[in-house]
Amino acid sequence: TEEQDYRARVEAAELPEKVREAALREVDKLERTSEQSPEVGWIRTWLDTVLDLPWGERTEDSYDIAGARAVLDADHAGLDDVKERITEYLAVRRRRADRGMGLVGGRGGGAVLALVGPPGVGKTSLGESVARAMGRKFVRVALGGVRDEAEIRGHRRTYVGALPGRIARAISEAGSMNPVVLLDEIDKVGADHRGDPTAALLEVLDPAQNHTFRDHYLEVELDLSDVVFLATANVLESIPGPLLDRMELVRLDGYTEDEKVTIARDHLLPRQVERAGLEPGDVEVTGAALRRLAGEYTREAGVRQLERSLARVLRKVTAGVALDRAELPVTVDGGDLEGYLKSPKFTPESAERTAVPGVATGLAVTGAGGDVLFVEAALAEPGTGAGGVVLTGQLGEVMKESAQIALSYLRAHDERAATLDGRGVHVHVPAGAVPKDGPSAGVTMVSALASLLSGRPVRSDVAMTGEVSLTGRVLPIGGVKQKLLAAHRAGITTVLLPARNGPDLEEVPRDVRDALTVHLVGDVREVLELAL
Ligand code: ATP
Ligand code: MG
Repeated sequence: TEEQDYRARVEAAELPEKVREAALREVDKLERTSEQSPEVGWIRTWLDTVLDLPWGERTEDSYDIAGARAVLDADHAGLDDVKERITEYLAVRRRRADRGMGLVGGRGGGAVLALVGPPGVGKTSLGESVARAMGRKFVRVALGGVRDEAEIRGHRRTYVGALPGRIARAISEAGSMNPVVLLDEIDKVGADHRGDPTAALLEVLDPAQNHTFRDHYLEVELDLSDVVFLATANVLESIPGPLLDRMELVRLDGYTEDEKVTIARDHLLPRQVERAGLEPGDVEVTGAALRRLAGEYTREAGVRQLERSLARVLRKVTAGVALDRAELPVTVDGGDLEGYLKSPKFTPESAERTAVPGVATGLAVTGAGGDVLFVEAALAEPGTGAGGVVLTGQLGEVMKESAQIALSYLRAHDERAATLDGRGVHVHVPAGAVPKDGPSAGVTMVSALASLLSGRPVRSDVAMTGEVSLTGRVLPIGGVKQKLLAAHRAGITTVLLPARNGPDLEEVPRDVRDALTVHLVGDVREVLELAL
């Protein structure tokens, strides 16, 4: 009978002792339960799930660290720092394992590498490469939008439609007890009344606890101590502190245009040529075309849009050949792109935006990477903001305070600010629908307001970032590399940066640093001299 079948399967399986006992108890229960009872189905499902787990299955790790580095190099162009960091991680892990030392645990122990950066910079695909480099199975656990602890740890069996949690399912899917598990988008985990998934994740990631991980559905212990956990995130702000404490952060800030061209030529193009049903020799997309795609048809920190536009071009090549409008081989040069994709989507906009007094170009970091942002200042309608300031554009508290500080500073230092009395100012930061916050627009606010007061436009080739104090000191900000990459993408040539951010220029790629004139400023008076 089926019950004997289950007994035989349990006995044949390589189960840990406690799991075997639990499974046999369920088989006993199955034998005692009437065939009509709904419980029969539940017990069978549970047994199937437990027998499906890869108990005792392990893959042999690749011992060759140089080979691992070669795999990382083959899969991704550039990213030297990141690959170096991953290689160190693998080497240390390897050595500690060889010496029977186990994993480094606890707070800040760096048991989990977290790849942090804007969309399309290769975080998820690097995770896959790490698995390949180690010779391990790879599973991605998408955590975006997970709000329920049971998603991680499973539902108790008494719950109708109970399932194991995502961790247990990932192990099952991997088919080995030591896969690389990528906790993708860990910054998008939320909490609500159904419980906080963070607590469960903490346990999963804690080497002191995770060799006895208990899934609520399985009710048996799962040893996760041999799993390599990696995480990815766009931003750090939304990751709960205790989780962040367990992670070792590896930042990917985005690519320069040169890097994008290399990535496109060596990785995206070959893949998309194949997807379009073409052979490598069928189509040549020139370097000039790739550069225009990266610079004029897309504007992003990563390469996802670039890959999409490339896919669109190649699809049209394939269709053109099918319709006898073109013959293979086809060459796509820079000037041909209009024929495939219409006109470029992005032209430098700073010049026209800052043509009128009262507009200044700032630099910001959003979840999508670095970006230029414009601060617009205008006299408010009489009566609306009398003596004060009206703020629009979904500004957060800190950003609103920056506007107030900028105004107070100018009232104290610029006699023309008296013209504002009785007639407030209106400060707007487009795009109006995107929430923004942080103190780093301080210098941009002061410049926009000073430009409004003086009637002189802000220089259109200048972008700036920096917090301002009431006394006019320019204080350091974060995200220097992302901001400078964004300025360069947007065609800005001069950047004003807080003096104390000077050391951060080290991380900015050479070609971008060379293309930009960076002024380090300590006081807003210097900002105004350079910008107006
Ligand atoms: P998101 O935050 O949106 O999930 P991501 O950082 O996970 O983005 P991926 O999906 O890993 O981005 O990368 C997008 C695509 O770009 C992938 O096909 C990836 O292989 C490719 N890619 C990104 N960076 C590189 C690189 N340095 N070399 C080669 N390919 C790259
Ligand atoms: Mg991803």
